[in-house]
Amino acid sequence: MADYETVVGLEVHMQINTKSKVFCECSTQFGAEPNSNTCVICTSQPGAIPILNKKAVEAVVKTGLALNFTINKQCTFARKQYFYPDVPKNYQITQSEPPLCSRGKLAITVSGKEKIINITRIHLEEDAGKLVHEIGSKKLDYSLLDLNRAGVGLMELVTEPEITSQHEALEFLKELKSIVEYLGTSKCSMEEGKMRCDVNVSIRPVGQKELGTRVEIKNMNSISGVRNAIAYEIERQKEVLNSGGKLTQETRLWEAEEGITKSMRSKEGALDYRYFPEPDLVPFNLPDSFIEELQKQVLELPRARKARFVKDYGLSECDADYLTSTRMIADYYEEAFNAFKR
Ligand code: ADP
Ligand code: ZN
Ligand code: MG
Repeated sequence: MADYETVVGLEVHMQINTKSKVFCECSTQFGAEPNSNTCVICTSQPGAIPILNKKAVEAVVKTGLALNFTINKQCTFARKQYFYPDVPKNYQITQSEPPLCSRGKLAITVSGKEKIINITRIHLEEDAGKLVHEIGSKKLDYSLLDLNRAGVGLMELVTEPEITSQHEALEFLKELKSIVEYLGTSKCSMEEGKMRCDVNVSIRPVGQKELGTRVEIKNMNSISGVRNAIAYEIERQKEVLNSGGKLTQETRLWEAEEGITKSMRSKEGALDYRYFPEPDLVPFNLPDSFIEELQKQVLELPRARKARFVKDYGLSECDADYLTSTRMIADYYEEAFNAFKR
C-alpha cells in the first residue's frame, strides 16, 4: 500500500478587539440583548454609508508586523457578493487584492524541531449576523435573526499548504493565539466564536509534487477539534484511496460528539463572488509614520519571552512554555519574581 503524506492549509478568522464595529459606531459587546447593537449601517439600510474604523486597521497591521508580513500601504476594500440570510445587504465588505498584509511567517516547534509556516495573507473584513434556530434546548420552527455581530471587524489569515500533520496544525493555532493575545489585537476566545477556523486537508503519495484533492472542514471552534478532525480525515482519505476510490473536493462538517466529518456540499471549482471595488470606501494610502508607530508597539512576543525565561530564570523549557503562554501569567510571574528578590 502506498505511503501518504498529509497537507493542511488553515483559514483563521479572528474577531478584532475594538470597542466599535468596523464600519459604524455600534458596540461589539458580546452577549448583549439581540439586535441592540445595531444602526442603519450594520443593518444594511439602503443608502447607508460605511465609515472605516481606524483602530481596526491598526489591529490588522500590528498583527501583520508581529508575524513578519509585508504591509501593503494601499488600503482598498471590495464587495464579495453572495446571499447571506444574516447580512441583509447580500454582500460582504472585505479585501481582495491587495490585502493589508502579504507573505508572513510563524515559527512553531513540534517534537523539539522548529519549523517555519508561511502565511499567504491577512485581510480585514466584516463579520455576519447570526441566525438563531433554537432557544435553550427548544428547537424553533422558524428562525430568528440577531445582527449584533454583523459588521464586527474580522481579520482573516490564510496559510500556505505547508502544515504536514495535526500536531503542526495544533501548534500553529496555539502559537498564533498566544501572539495575538500578547498583542491584544483579538481576544481569540474560541468559545465565544472570536476565533474560527476552516481546515483544508489532503493527502498525496510520498514524493508526489502535485497536491492531492482537498477537503475543507468549515467553522471549527476548538483547537483540539481541529487536531481530531485532521487525524480523522487523514485516515478516511487513506481508506478511500487504498480501496481504489476517488476523493472529491468538498466541504465537510466536524461532528464533535461522534468524532467524524460529514459531507456538507461538493465544491467544484471556485464560486464566483464577483468581487468589485467597494464604491463607498475610497482607496487610500497608509502613511509610513502610521506603520512605524505600530511597529514600535510590537514588543517581546511569546517565543522570545520564553527563551528569556529559560535563560534569565533558569526555568525548564516546559515551565517557561506554560508561564509565557499568556501575557497575564508571564507578567505575574515576573512581578512575583522581582518582588521576591527584593
Ligand atoms: P478557497 O478560498 O476556495 O478556500 P484557497 O485557494 O484560498 O481556496 O485556499 C484555502 C486554503 O486551502 C489555503 O490555506 C491553502 O493553503 C489550502 N489548500 C489549497 N490547496 C490545498 C490542498 N490540496 N491540500 C490542503 N490544503 C490546501
Ligand atoms: Zn451599526
Ligand atoms: Mg476556504
